[in-house]
Amino acid sequence: MSAPDYLICLECESPCYTFEWGDGKAKEAICTVCGNEDLESFATEDEYEALATDDRFRSH
Ligand SMILES: [Zn+2]
Repeated sequence: MSAPDYLICLECESPCYTFEWGDGKAKEAICTVCGNEDLESFATEDEYEALATDDRFRSH
């Protein structure tokens, strides 16, 4: 998998462009909006879309 344009911060649901990509996954990321830097709290666009069907992330 090639590097995505951005990761999505799951803490504040903002796109995050400040990250390091390697071996098909994010290695380091920091959200400039909320300061989150826990890799577990970032998702790629594809992962985020999968999560969007999850109840926890459903907006309505
Ligand atoms: Zn954030």
